Amino acid sequence: MSKNFPDASPETLAVQALGVTEPLTGAVTPPVYISSTFEREPDLEYKNGFIYGRADNQTVRQAEAVLTTLEGGVASLLVASGMSAATGVFMALKPGDTALVPEVMYWGVRKWLNSWGAEWGVKIVYYPNDDMTTLRALTEQHRPALIWAETPSNPMWSVTDIAEAARIAHSVGAKLAVDSTVATPVLTQPLAHGADIVMHSATKYLNGHSDVIAGALVTAQDDAFWQRIVSIRKDIGTIMGPFEAWLLLRGMRTLHVRVRAASANAMAIARHFEGHSKVVQMLYPGLPSHPGHATAARQMSGGFGGMLSIRIKGGKQGAVKAAAGLVLFKRATSLGGVESLVEHRRSIEGPESPVPEDLLRFSIGIEKLDDLIADLEQALAAV
Ligand SMILES: *Cc1c(COP(=O)(O)O)cnc(C)c1O
Repeated sequence: MSKNFPDASPETLAVQALGVTEPLTGAVTPPVYISSTFEREPDLEYKNGFIYGRADNQTVRQAEAVLTTLEGGVASLLVASGMSAATGVFMALKPGDTALVPEVMYWGVRKWLNSWGAEWGVKIVYYPNDDMTTLRALTEQHRPALIWAETPSNPMWSVTDIAEAARIAHSVGAKLAVDSTVATPVLTQPLAHGADIVMHSATKYLNGHSDVIAGALVTAQDDAFWQRIVSIRKDIGTIMGPFEAWLLLRGMRTLHVRVRAASANAMAIARHFEGHSKVVQMLYPGLPSHPGHATAARQMSGGFGGMLSIRIKGGKQGAVKAAAGLVLFKRATSLGGVESLVEHRRSIEGPESPVPEDLLRFSIGIEKLDDLIADLEQALAAV
């Protein structure tokens, strides 16, 4: 571990994957531990604590240790997808509990909550993402066990004040869990603002190369609620596979440089195209025109992330035409990879989606800025 340099920053520790070298050979890059089972001692004890791969795995643990350091938590859990991370938190609630969740959030979580919540006896109440007065009133009315936040949130990038949401949650003894996939620990550390649990789709920025499906949870305290989540992973078997954990460990080594580069590109693109003749609205929390800018400036540091949305002239047709004309930007779902992606969210989410029809969501990658701007210019010119 970081025994030679105890004051090293989380960034340095992540780059070195906590500086662990493998004891047998001195390898700087750790091996992948793939064994599903472990030998018992003659007295039937497991001397290293590993019993079976559904409960725990050393490669998973190494990646968890890096993420715990990045988020400033006390423990992490890596699971098979962002969805299994999010659902693990809600499944730890008990029938009769209420969860307050934001109106605008990752559509997959909203869709699952709408069916699961009612069936499992957990009441789901929606609050406006950036309206803490309403959140407080709903909290006093419903006395939830959990408040869920997502900030900045897909795909309008509205910003939730984490510190205020945490105060509101704690005033009734509720937990605050934050989907921080878009912010990443590079730009925001929700636990430092008072959140209890951080969730990531590690498929996105944490891994960063669009080649792993993964999810993560980090906790500020190892308490009874966290232990329920730990046993859910073990009992229903959602642990991340060792190869995925190894790729994630590699991805996190470059997290800071990737996120800083994507944020700088996104800020430059947002500034360049705000006010463009084919642009109805540029949605990026880094712009002073964004309604969440002041809160984002308070709780994000080092940038505003790589995600932005553009509302295009000409309604749905205009947006779809602009996406069709892009060459460097790939028309694909997901986000947080090194390559730039574009998506017409409304067609993905279906008719019940609150997303405007003229909106294109962009995951800005780390390509050369001039190339991305030129590609957008030529696609918009054809609208
Ligand atoms: C992708 C995503 C998820 C779901 O994660 P998967 O890894 O696809 O299961 C949840 N929240 C946000 C913000 C996401 O972008």
